Amino acid sequence: MAIKEPEVLNPFEVAVAQFDVAADRLKLGQDLRAILRMPKREVSVNFPVKMDDGSVRMFTGYRVQHNVHRGPSKGGIRYDLHVSLDEVRALAMWMTWKCAVVNIPFGGAKGGVIVDPHDLTIGELERMTRRYATEIASVIGPESDIPAPDVNTNPQVMAWIMDTYSMHHGYSIPAVVTGKPLAVGGSEGRMEATGRGVAITTREACHALGMPFEGARVVIQGFGNVGSISARILHEMGCKIIGLSDIFGAVYNESGIDVNLALAHLKDHGRLSGLSGTTPIDGNDLLELPCDILIPAALEGQLTQANADRIQAKLIVEAANGPTTTEADEIFHERGIPVVPDILANAGGVTVSYFEWAQNLQHLSWAESEVNARLEQIMVRSFNAVNDIRKEKACDFRLGAYLLSVSRVAEAAKVRGIYP
Ligand code: GLU
Repeated sequence: MAIKEPEVLNPFEVAVAQFDVAADRLKLGQDLRAILRMPKREVSVNFPVKMDDGSVRMFTGYRVQHNVHRGPSKGGIRYDLHVSLDEVRALAMWMTWKCAVVNIPFGGAKGGVIVDPHDLTIGELERMTRRYATEIASVIGPESDIPAPDVNTNPQVMAWIMDTYSMHHGYSIPAVVTGKPLAVGGSEGRMEATGRGVAITTREACHALGMPFEGARVVIQGFGNVGSISARILHEMGCKIIGLSDIFGAVYNESGIDVNLALAHLKDHGRLSGLSGTTPIDGNDLLELPCDILIPAALEGQLTQANADRIQAKLIVEAANGPTTTEADEIFHERGIPVVPDILANAGGVTVSYFEWAQNLQHLSWAESEVNARLEQIMVRSFNAVNDIRKEKACDFRLGAYLLSVSRVAEAAKVRGIYP
């Protein structure tokens, strides 16, 4: 097993612990603290789907909206067997801080269905998606809560959600989801945006820390949308990708992996193993390879108390959401290994989601060069804002990012006040 399953960890406890550290430092009052600690709304749904063989299968799904003080809630939908209410709560809270770090006018939400979509036929996947979309239709909308892709969901799934929601209303409402195919109002550059943002942030972090970026040896865990595109863009920017993994295993080459070859191999074989010019290694050992930059781009809870002492990277950039536990974070802090947190490093995805939503609302479509230039500007500006706080407050990147984002959300909550 290449990627450790996060079953023993409660990601919501990790998320709340991270928030509490920032709230203490900001001396946030008890009322604001209590408001921001809890999700605003949680929807749990159990729903039937007709399977291809005529049988009926029940599915369980969630949509959690953590906060809407700065704007409609925003966040992806994941399909995974490990989805739980606490996981979705954590991911929703992280979305609130993520949108605030990059200063886009959204709150945070997340959704999920307990399913391994690889077990479903395409027809079953479509019917399950449309029924789940119907179950949560009363709480999503272009002005209230806007889903997007996440683990195991993609533009096709977004198109079905957009179509289902639009059918209920009798006209097309593309702005209800982002990460759509270009044919139905998706944005240029959205597919690549999270990976591009990770690459930009990694470059900025190297510069800020006085570490060489070109030629840096990079290990990436996870080769889905985020991991593979981060790898490709970092490779194009001159980094040397020495280790990669997917759910089936990991591959290694000290002198550098040709990422384009890895992408072609994945297309042909559905997995990285067997990639020519690489040696197979254990997925857990991959994380512990000597390297300059380690990029966890898979699931939560990968860097824990159990392996944090053995990590040899000089810099960790969190492309996944919540890959580092609180204990591991403390160990990295003590060992002087900087960690660029998820809410900053992977915010490129939701940033271009914001561009997609804004384009949809105005019936416009921007060129890819414009999308990428605006993304670059926001990522660099946000990194610098966090880095300035890190230096000023003598804290790590995570706390810097939390101080910035929590104070922005708290300010919005304070000026709006409590209704009635
Ligand atoms: N699922 C992505 C994330 O975790 C993107 C969310 C979005 O675009 O709304 O940031």
